[in-house]
Amino acid sequence: MKDVIIVGAGPAGLACAIEAARKKLDYVVLDRGCVVNAIYNFPKNMTFFSTPDLLEIGETAFISDKFRPNRQEVLNYYLKIVKLFKLKTNTYEEAIGLSRHSNYLSVHAKTYSGKQKEYKARKVILATGYYDNPNMIGVKGEDFSKVSHYYTEAHPFYNKEVAVVGGNNSAVEAALELCHHGAKVTLIHREATLGKKIKYWILPDIKKRIEKKLVKAIFNATVQEISREYIGIRINGKRSRVKNDFVFAMTGYRPDSKLMDAFGLKYNPKTLAPKHIPKNLETNIKGVHVAGSIISGINNNRVFIENSRDHGKVILG
Ligand SMILES: Cc1cc2nc3c(=O)[nH]c(=O)nc-3n(C[C@H](O)[C@H](O)[C@H](O)COP(=O)(O)OP(=O)(O)OC[C@H]3O[C@@H](n4cnc5c(N)ncnc54)[C@H](O)[C@@H]3O)c2cc1C
Repeated sequence: MKDVIIVGAGPAGLACAIEAARKKLDYVVLDRGCVVNAIYNFPKNMTFFSTPDLLEIGETAFISDKFRPNRQEVLNYYLKIVKLFKLKTNTYEEAIGLSRHSNYLSVHAKTYSGKQKEYKARKVILATGYYDNPNMIGVKGEDFSKVSHYYTEAHPFYNKEVAVVGGNNSAVEAALELCHHGAKVTLIHREATLGKKIKYWILPDIKKRIEKKLVKAIFNATVQEISREYIGIRINGKRSRVKNDFVFAMTGYRPDSKLMDAFGLKYNPKTLAPKHIPKNLETNIKGVHVAGSIISGINNNRVFIENSRDHGKVILG
């Protein structure tokens, strides 16, 4: 029997593990992927908006010569944290459900090779974030292999017609990088203007590129269907087609409601934010807590690394 099972080895889950280790609790962190799997899957050349000090966990300095660190530095930092604190991580083990007993909880998990496992514990912390579950556009053709909800790098798309759906940071950053690498980019956004929270240091670049028609921007447009050669859109009620080889649907992500159902967690059906007590982040199930960005449901720009790295202390302090 463990004291704590932590599900998710993202920054929040690792911060919880550090607290558990400091309190000499018997714990293990499960992750369906690698350590900080969500960050591992971020665009390869992305830069964080946070300065290094605001991404630190375990009061351990994150030294970088840059004002804002890049993905590789952040991966290195969190891996270093795991080694430094000798955190117990069972990677490539996915939590699939929870059962309740009179004086303990069981987390049911599945290994990469398909083996079923059961972890008994007094406390469970769910820190599974949101990045594994894209918001689907919900149109025909979205399942074609030319469509992806994850942008990683521009190189394969040189001289190709690439549609980027969305108008916030992820979409704009992907559009810019693709454009810099010679892709023919069409940015399709359902609003009349780009998102209000676009990072101030990329806004002039995208504006200039749209103005010079290096990036074709189509506003007030909703995607209707995706075919092998075209993407069908509707602008102010009028349908049209844009020639297309690849689509990046940068339409955001949401917490895994199926997992919350499998755990028996109550959550707001609209926002998918799990119900919890703010003072200790305990959910409707006694002994089951939430940590990190899962807390804010679909509004995941409200809880991020900077303001959730103390959740371990809130739960275990
Ligand atoms: C492009 C981009 C840039 C960002 N830049 C910043 C920034 O500069 N500063 C900042 O503070 N925030 C930033 N964020 C937000 C930040 O990355 C997230 O808020 C943060 O990763 C959330 O941490 P977390 O530990 O809650 O979840 P995650 O980092 O998402 O970790 C969740 C972990 O849970 C695992 N998992 C999921 N389901 C299961 C399961 N069933 N069983 C086992 N494991 C599971 C996943 O594999 C993953 O490793 C950025 C986000 C994006 C997309």
